[in-house]
Amino acid sequence: MIPFLDLKGINQRFETAFQNSFQKFLDSGYYILGSQVKLFEANFARYCGTNHCVGVGNGLDALRLILEGYKVLGKLKENDEVLVASNTYIATILAIKQAGLKPVLVEADLNTYNFDLISLQNSISGTTKAIMPVHLYGQISAIDEILTIAKENNLLVIEDAAQAHGAIANNGKRAGNLGDAAGFSYYPTKNLGALGDGGAVTTNDDALAEVITKLRNYGATTKYVNEISGFNSRLDELQAAFLNCKLPYLDDDNERRRTIAKKYTAEISNKKIVLPKYDGSDSHIFHLFVVRVDNRNGFIDYLDRNGIGHLIHYPIPPHKQEALSEYSHLSFPNTEKIHDEVISIPISPILTDADVEKIIKTLNAY
Ligand SMILES: *Cc1c(COP(=O)(O)O)cnc(C)c1O
Repeated sequence: MIPFLDLKGINQRFETAFQNSFQKFLDSGYYILGSQVKLFEANFARYCGTNHCVGVGNGLDALRLILEGYKVLGKLKENDEVLVASNTYIATILAIKQAGLKPVLVEADLNTYNFDLISLQNSISGTTKAIMPVHLYGQISAIDEILTIAKENNLLVIEDAAQAHGAIANNGKRAGNLGDAAGFSYYPTKNLGALGDGGAVTTNDDALAEVITKLRNYGATTKYVNEISGFNSRLDELQAAFLNCKLPYLDDDNERRRTIAKKYTAEISNKKIVLPKYDGSDSHIFHLFVVRVDNRNGFIDYLDRNGIGHLIHYPIPPHKQEALSEYSHLSFPNTEKIHDEVISIPISPILTDADVEKIIKTLNAY
């Protein structure tokens, strides 16, 4: 059996480093916003090429706090519209709603699974204030086009980089350094995953970084001096320590994922399976390897019989979720097709060459 994602195996590679970090953490007696969070923020900012990284509780809060921060700074206000892909994970949309702004769903492109650029252009109204590109499955959105549209219309660009740690755009910049600000998640399954929840905001905007540093900690930078009405959403000190152990290996892991993806796209050849379009560049870190099939249930039975793990990202589009019933009247044919047909097959830095061969053979024999 090839599991969809062997998280235990992925983290066992760091066992000794984790144990040493934990011992230091325990000996320090300092548990919240300590030296490990500071160190990780410096490390991750340097890695992304940004001036700032602010550690927060999770990816959802990272996105929400960016929006809340811009409200404090007067760049956004209640009910401003934010453009977001209609096929994203629900977190992106919830972050916008929770910040009191209005998510406007934009149709997806069937080749990239990111924004359909014509629909993006057509969705701009007088109250649109920001675009939130999601680098879904690990592939950077059409960032040059998005930045041009944003500039023409005076819009903020806020990346949801929760699936794209380390992806490099064609202009040489990494995800997290492509717009005004970016939200990351270190949920355990992400390419850079903690052993619990975690997230961060990256930005080159000094004022935004300062405001989010306050917002994540009750609106205070000095203890018990609350300048703004804040939240409690801090990157956990122990998770930061674990992330410091893992970050130096992220590029190697991403490269291994890309090598596997190149082999899949070169060698899986089956008319019944639609492969992702991939240009071979570093703009994709293959957080997920997502294919499309017509008869998904039949394909799932086949994978189960052959011992190959799988998951669906995602089975229900946001506008069909009960939690977002205000969007249920809308129709996004590409997005609905994606949710009906997608299935993710194993891709992880610790798959063996034999696993990869078996997966290719099995898919070709379907
Ligand atoms: C994981 C994820 C999030 C949310 O991250 P959490 O840490 O689980 O809150 C947001 N957006 C996308 C695209 C994600 O994949």
